[in-house]
Amino acid sequence: MNTILGCIADDFTGATDLASILARSGAPINIRLGTPSPEVEAGDESITAPAAAPFEIIALKCRTSPVEEAVSETRNALHWLQARGARQFYWKYCSTFDSTDQGNIGPVAESLLQQLAADAAGKRQTVYCPAFPENGRSVYQSHLFVGTRLLSDSPMKDHPLTPMRNSNLLELLEPQTRMSVGAITRNTIREGSDAIRRQLHRLAEQGIAHVVVDAIDMSDLRAIAEATIDMPLITGGSALALHLPELYRQRGWLNRSESIPSLPKTRRASIVLSGSCSAMTRNQVTRYCQQAPSFQLDPLKLAMENQLEQAMQWLDAQNEHDSVMIYSTAAPERVCAAQEQLGRERGGELVETALATLAVHACNNGVQRVVTAGGETSGAVVKALGVSTLQVSREIAPGVPWTFSRRQGENLALALKSGNFGEEDFFEKALAILDETPEP
Ligand code: ADP
Repeated sequence: MNTILGCIADDFTGATDLASILARSGAPINIRLGTPSPEVEAGDESITAPAAAPFEIIALKCRTSPVEEAVSETRNALHWLQARGARQFYWKYCSTFDSTDQGNIGPVAESLLQQLAADAAGKRQTVYCPAFPENGRSVYQSHLFVGTRLLSDSPMKDHPLTPMRNSNLLELLEPQTRMSVGAITRNTIREGSDAIRRQLHRLAEQGIAHVVVDAIDMSDLRAIAEATIDMPLITGGSALALHLPELYRQRGWLNRSESIPSLPKTRRASIVLSGSCSAMTRNQVTRYCQQAPSFQLDPLKLAMENQLEQAMQWLDAQNEHDSVMIYSTAAPERVCAAQEQLGRERGGELVETALATLAVHACNNGVQRVVTAGGETSGAVVKALGVSTLQVSREIAPGVPWTFSRRQGENLALALKSGNFGEEDFFEKALAILDETPEP
């Protein structure tokens, strides 16, 4: 199968979010956890690893990495996708544009543009489209809104790693890029794809490489997708991808008959691991605490009281047929208190390492169903589990599909949820879907 769209996501839940949008087309999708190395492709794993799909997504964990590291990792990923023959490339970041002035969204886009320019007649322009109207993210006059509030007034202002205190995407991008930044505002977007194309051309003539596009509803996204279908690189949240499969079908690039795989059988025991402190996850955790045995991790206790050992013992004492939850999810005051004592990075690292270790422990003891909440958290968990490719299956909630993989000769079902996604009943809803597939 030829690859049509090659995507690079800056975190693991970003990859599953994009996958769930593309999966609505019915076409198969692979998520590669890290760029596959030549050794892996040539070795044992190639026997079980799925063949290339029309949509290939490389999930990285580079949202908060130092810039040079993120640039180097994304260049390798692009190289792999280019070698699969992808016709268009997608740099996927969060719909809340998570990054700091030292952040990676702009520098990575710039470096990918340079890498692609060699192939694509020197075209050095891309669009930035974080809007996701279905999930309440819209861009107007280059300002990003979360629901009815500006990003800087939303709960994202208190994010543990990337607190978003500015909503102006031009101002966020400018310090990150060397080439010029410009905008296409809603007045042009709503005129449709031809008007957008003309405006992109005008901006290119002025040397503007980075173009922030307004979008407040789905028809805006469609017009932007149409106008940029010949751009080698597009960037954004996941929603811009919604119309791509249909556009590729119209061009005869994508077959109608290809279909996503159904979920394989897994044992009933499951674990929910939550390291996200986002407002929606806090509600989800509060609700699920009333339904499943739960254990709360605390970075200060992990640092000072070896709480990981206690959590491990607690996990071993649970009934192996039940669903359990382990979480570090906490309110902003508590996160701040931990960060003041331990530092932002150390606090996050302690929690991520603990959740990842517990995930491995659970799976080594027979758990085949894992739900994770939090982008960084999910990245840490799947890396520790050592899985390399996820095949995408049914969508649980907008932006979150069930995925499956093989680990130590068994099926493993994984739902990786970005902090803000899903409704309050997300955890029970996700696991109920698996109950519909019979146990082995
Ligand atoms: P989200 O998708 O909501 O942004 P992430 O997992 O990406 O969630 O980010 C949350 C970060 O906060 C992680 O690095 C995690 O380790 C850290 N964290 C989680 N719980 C706590 C806590 N109680 N105190 C301090 N940091 C925490």
